[in-house]
Amino acid sequence: MSYKFATKAIHAGQEADPTTGAVMTPIYQTSTYKQASPGDHKGYEYSRGTNPTRKALEDCLAALENGRFGLAFASGMAATDTVLRLLKPGDEVVTGDDLYGGSYRIFTKVYEQYGIRFVFVNTADAEEVRAAITPKTKLIWIETPSNPTLKLTDIKAVGDIAKENKVLYVVDNTFASPYLQNPLDLGADIVMHSATKYLNGHSDVVMGALILNDEDLYKQLWFYYNAVGGTPGPQDAFLALRGLKTLHVRMKAHCENAHKIAAFLKDHPKVDKIYWPGFTDHPGHEIAKKQMRDFGGMISIVLKGADLQETFRIASRFKVFTLAESLGGVESLINHPATMTHGSIPKEIRESVGVVDNLLRLSVGIEDVDDLIADLEQVLA
Ligand SMILES: *Cc1c(COP(=O)(O)O)cnc(C)c1O
Repeated sequence: MSYKFATKAIHAGQEADPTTGAVMTPIYQTSTYKQASPGDHKGYEYSRGTNPTRKALEDCLAALENGRFGLAFASGMAATDTVLRLLKPGDEVVTGDDLYGGSYRIFTKVYEQYGIRFVFVNTADAEEVRAAITPKTKLIWIETPSNPTLKLTDIKAVGDIAKENKVLYVVDNTFASPYLQNPLDLGADIVMHSATKYLNGHSDVVMGALILNDEDLYKQLWFYYNAVGGTPGPQDAFLALRGLKTLHVRMKAHCENAHKIAAFLKDHPKVDKIYWPGFTDHPGHEIAKKQMRDFGGMISIVLKGADLQETFRIASRFKVFTLAESLGGVESLINHPATMTHGSIPKEIRESVGVVDNLLRLSVGIEDVDDLIADLEQVLA
């Protein structure tokens, strides 16, 4: 029987503990497992590779993304690193020009030195992706909505190009979460998540995930997952599993609050520009309507006539929003991408994609929206 999203979020991968009947998956705080005779075990040998608490989380993540296999990692970057290990010197990757700063950093500062070439294009235009493909291209990596300017990439259109060219296709689904979009259903081979964000949702765990359908690819990824060992402990797996149980409730509230805040900011005299895919004049609005169930909880704004100093002053005056990196938690956060999350991207490159000094990114939480709007009102006054 196939269940709907909310039921899967609460139950998938989890059964009452067979030894005690515990309803919640126990935190299996063990590094190793007793074997009856060498090689005769219950499917668990050593916790770098397999752990029951982590397994429950992985199965739940897989169910939410409509995938067969899930892999949990100690961070989103460890998940990304594991995908990149599939590549060999000489291979090329086509990716977005508006990526999470850490993804840009691992591509250019870690993997370029091993002879892998990364080509950055505006993936919102699928034809730019097609034009960048060469016989050496092995991987397409996209992020949608992108960070922080919330550009939309047509997941299916790029997926068709990946398929035609027999190129592996990865979608970083961190910003949308599986509640809003399911890239595997639209042609992605692998969905990547920073589970630190909406999936866990409470800003108390750093974790990553990969979800996929192909068994051979799963085996290849599992090899690096175990051989390199960037896997999370059971305590964090338990917390993320608990967070997932309310993903649907939280996402609905994030989206509702973001709708109202975006409407408040749109015509505010201090706001020069606003990025939120729910506006009909957002260039990705039609794609968002096609591939997402709502528009998400992220909003970016460019402050009118503010220099770096004035932007810092405004960013430091919030009372309910917290000035901090990260996103996707129940609490509202404000971020200054140019110096915080995107500080590792050279100034000319980040400015060319709109990450200017007076841009602020809001991760709209699920507090009472009246208090959030009042906070924005006093800060912008
Ligand atoms: C945070 C983030 C990552 C990196 O994940 P970590 O859990 O911080 O390692 C990757 N992609 C996106 C879109 C992110 O927001």
